[in-house]
Amino acid sequence: MSGYVLPVEWGAQVDYTQNEWTPWNPEKFVIHYGGGANYAGSEAEAAKRGYSFPSVDAEKSVLRAWENWHINGRGWLGIAYNYAIGQSGTIYQLRGENRSGATRGDEDNDGIPANHEARAVVFILGGNQVPTEEALDAFRTLYNNLGPGLRVTVHSDYQSTSCPGDNLRALVDNEFYLEDIMQFTEEEATELKNLVLGLKQKDSTGYGLATNGIDLIRAHRTPAEAVDEVARSAASKAQALAQLALDKLRKVKEVL
Ligand SMILES: [Zn+2]
Repeated sequence: MSGYVLPVEWGAQVDYTQNEWTPWNPEKFVIHYGGGANYAGSEAEAAKRGYSFPSVDAEKSVLRAWENWHINGRGWLGIAYNYAIGQSGTIYQLRGENRSGATRGDEDNDGIPANHEARAVVFILGGNQVPTEEALDAFRTLYNNLGPGLRVTVHSDYQSTSCPGDNLRALVDNEFYLEDIMQFTEEEATELKNLVLGLKQKDSTGYGLATNGIDLIRAHRTPAEAVDEVARSAASKAQALAQLALDKLRKVKEVL
């Protein structure tokens, strides 16, 4: 995928393109972080190592260290994750789409290990470090490129772990990756929610269309497409209602 820093560019020791591990069919994302204070994660930590912040060089260096630990410390075949996101807003391809990640657990209890159904994305930060807007935007790009509409989970959904930290966990809970699409203020979101709840009580067709529209926005990623589809569906329903009204009018006319 263009725009991603490839393994050869960040200095990986494994050729991830040569390691086929199929089939796997990612149906969700799982978010990780590095844990601990990371020298690519904040200005203060970067300064201790003589890096500026954010620093692509520092991020690449962290990835090489993680890869080395995963291979030589853990005995894995390579770095555990599919992609990494740097504080600089850089997307790094790790295992990419060529092989599943090493995430354990079965969060949805469907008998399929998470590493066969989730793309593992690691943010290059840890501890209480705060993801930058650039990093969050980079994830939005990755999400929209690879899995618009897919669920985003966190490592702690699968196992008892601090990963991916409180900051990222709260952001995922708030579906930060949808924000640029939804573009609602909190007031607008409340208004929409009340509108939908009101419709539910008054008008089951309207409620169905509204929830359908929200689902479509999530699945299709653009409000315009969702509105089109809801409008088409509404139009066909309106047409049926108009026909019904016309038939009734005709009957009234006959009576008259
Ligand atoms: Zn993790």
